[in-house]
Amino acid sequence: MAVSLDLAHAANRPRPAPPVMPMAGDEKPSLVGLDRAALGEALSAVGVPDKQIRMRVAQLWHWLYVRGVADFSQMANVAGTLRQALHEAYTIARPEVVDEQISVDGTRKWLFRFPPRGAGRPVEIETVYIPEEGRGTLCISSQVGCTLTCTFCHTGTQRLVRNLLPDEIVGQILAARERLGDLPDAATPAGAIVPNGGRLVTNVVLMGMGEPLYNYDNVRQAMAVASDGEGLSLSKRRITLSTSGVVPSIVKAGEEMGVSLAISLHAVRDELRDELVPINKKYPLKDLLDACRAYPGLSNARRITFEYVMLKDVNDSMADAKELVRILRGIPAKINLIPFNPWPGSAYECSDWDQIERFADYVNQAGYASPIRTPRGRDIFAACGQLKSESERLKKSARDRLESLRASELAAD
Ligand code: SF4
Repeated sequence: MAVSLDLAHAANRPRPAPPVMPMAGDEKPSLVGLDRAALGEALSAVGVPDKQIRMRVAQLWHWLYVRGVADFSQMANVAGTLRQALHEAYTIARPEVVDEQISVDGTRKWLFRFPPRGAGRPVEIETVYIPEEGRGTLCISSQVGCTLTCTFCHTGTQRLVRNLLPDEIVGQILAARERLGDLPDAATPAGAIVPNGGRLVTNVVLMGMGEPLYNYDNVRQAMAVASDGEGLSLSKRRITLSTSGVVPSIVKAGEEMGVSLAISLHAVRDELRDELVPINKKYPLKDLLDACRAYPGLSNARRITFEYVMLKDVNDSMADAKELVRILRGIPAKINLIPFNPWPGSAYECSDWDQIERFADYVNQAGYASPIRTPRGRDIFAACGQLKSESERLKKSARDRLESLRASELAAD
């Protein structure tokens, strides 16, 4: 349906300010990631009459999240005048794809760049796609860097630059779907390993860079958009928020977002968890497990996933396995055992495979479905705990080279 823009009407009434965050320089605010009310305000601000707002919002929503367009000019049933007005005021651009790496196992890792916000500079984050039989999981980031310093995690060595905004969180899903050809009329790249039939991105996990509960409002808004039934339509059960244990926000997240929960557990005693996941000093295991027990909607069909990275001679003894079973008693739980994925400079080794199997057998026999998560994308540093923006990696390697040069100069003196 063609639309017309009632500019004369618009000129005679006050325009609400755009509800989106202003950016530096010429950057335009993004319409991606806004809820319907905010999208309506953005339309109103460019002169769309009140009586048309609802219909226009529905149109834009469809173009953004069902058709997945990244340019107003592609919105074929929107009048040229409105497309031009939107183009002048806003953007719906995807993040820039700085790099795409494809593992031998089909895992893909993208380095996405977002424009500066406020007085900031462009930022880069990583997003990973893991294709499996019958499902395709997208692991997205919620922050650039991280304030927490989990010692087994590469991201934890990169300081927090800033929180990602809703458009940047949703933008990762849209950009990944575009790269995979998972949009109407798009073709999947030749030779890509993807699930057979149906959608290529079936699940989203907030397990990339950052602690999602330390970017609560933006994550909540982005997940509301991602799970909207008239748009991206991801089932809330297929969205998993993984937290290192921000106890005060756990139950609230269950109530307000309704997504599945994963806990980055990794140790069963406070003393060790204080070291591996330092937020434990603030929110110890007992408080964390109490919050898990109170998570809304838990049942045997809807369990919390406990992530447990297997670190040789650190947390992989049979005593640890027994304690793990004991402390999770009464919580509908799955345990994901993750063979440690080393990264340059990491202080840990992966447990021996025999030990991982013994550990898994014990927790399985205790009644927990505890798959050993097959390492994916190791050859492209896309596995759990390995994400770090490429520029940070390059900076580190440049620093290392400089230090070794200085050391050899000193030795020569
Ligand atoms: S595991 Fe998560 S919370 Fe911990 S440092 Fe890594 S990104 Fe941050």
